[in-house]
Amino acid sequence: MNNTHATVLEINLANLTHNFNYLKSKTRSNVKMLSVVKASGYGSDVITVAKHLEKIGTDYFAVAYANEGIILREAGITSPILVLHPQPINFARLIDYNLEPNIYSLRVLKEFIKVTSELNKKQYPIHLKLNTGLNRLGFNISDIENLIVLIKQTNTIKVTSLFSHLAASEDINEKDFTLAQIASFKNLSTQISNAIGYTPILHQCNTSGILNYPEAHFSMIRTGIGLYGYGNDPLHDQYLKPIAKLTSCISQIHTLNTGESLGYNRGFIATSTTITATIPIGHADGISRIYGNKKGYVTINNQKAPILGNVCMDMIMVDVTSISCKEGDPVLIFDTKATAAAIAESAGTISYELLTSISPRVSRCIIE
Ligand SMILES: *Cc1c(COP(=O)(O)O)cnc(C)c1O
Repeated sequence: MNNTHATVLEINLANLTHNFNYLKSKTRSNVKMLSVVKASGYGSDVITVAKHLEKIGTDYFAVAYANEGIILREAGITSPILVLHPQPINFARLIDYNLEPNIYSLRVLKEFIKVTSELNKKQYPIHLKLNTGLNRLGFNISDIENLIVLIKQTNTIKVTSLFSHLAASEDINEKDFTLAQIASFKNLSTQISNAIGYTPILHQCNTSGILNYPEAHFSMIRTGIGLYGYGNDPLHDQYLKPIAKLTSCISQIHTLNTGESLGYNRGFIATSTTITATIPIGHADGISRIYGNKKGYVTINNQKAPILGNVCMDMIMVDVTSISCKEGDPVLIFDTKATAAAIAESAGTISYELLTSISPRVSRCIIE
């Protein structure tokens, strides 16, 4: 760990084990676990987290891009790795590192078959993504006939899994929509399995899907945010433990008289005597400007200290008028009690965005 920056992100591996086992306990014993470690393990420390997950028994990993998979291979990860959004320009490298692409359209399938043929590959594992309503990536119903023809024509690839992604699995108001997605996935996957003569691994649920739709676990579940300790709902959050704790300390304390301003653009003007603390974390560390002007807060001495004025690149200033504290005192940005989900929500965003924003400048420290 490098100690040059007072702001540190602690990663707790015991909590990661707890979350993994909790999510596993929510499904049938023969359902495979896929751990989503894209975006540096949701902003944590991807190599440490992936090695730990491999040790405690994950069956699969998923990343967004081939480069993220290469980082894992170079760190010694040997489990299968699904690349969720591969770019055709990287197909040869992806194959070189034994990564498995999500194939989501006829164009991408043709491109992948071309590359596997050129490399004389046989039965190279691929994953077909079916669009059941998210309308982001995936084969549409109108593509299925051509898809089957292309797959039956070649032996360079093998369909290891069929999958789809839910659009609103955390939102119980969208239950009908989700149930329709699940029904559509069942239909499409049965149609394809019958046509190709075998049933690949089937998977549709992300974390909220796992927790809210046990009937849709099929033969594998994909969990990202749940591993990191968030369940997108207080009902589920109570059983999960955030693995990341972000802390800093007070660099300086100022006392503003009425009418004095604070920070860039004079974003805050004191309407009464105000005591502020300057903290060495800013938008270059992942605390976006949306947290400025009292939308976000930190915790000092167990009390909430709202961010005053604009977030700077390297610093924030917070209100400590009614908090007893001094220069050098510890500052908590988020942990298991003051959660990233709560802070994100106060600024109108989600835990995923706050966690994945914590930049490499913040040193990571692993708690075994
Ligand atoms: C990111 C992602 C996941 C993980 O979702 P969580 O809500 O973090 O569990 C699962 N599947 C796909 C296709 C994804 O892109």
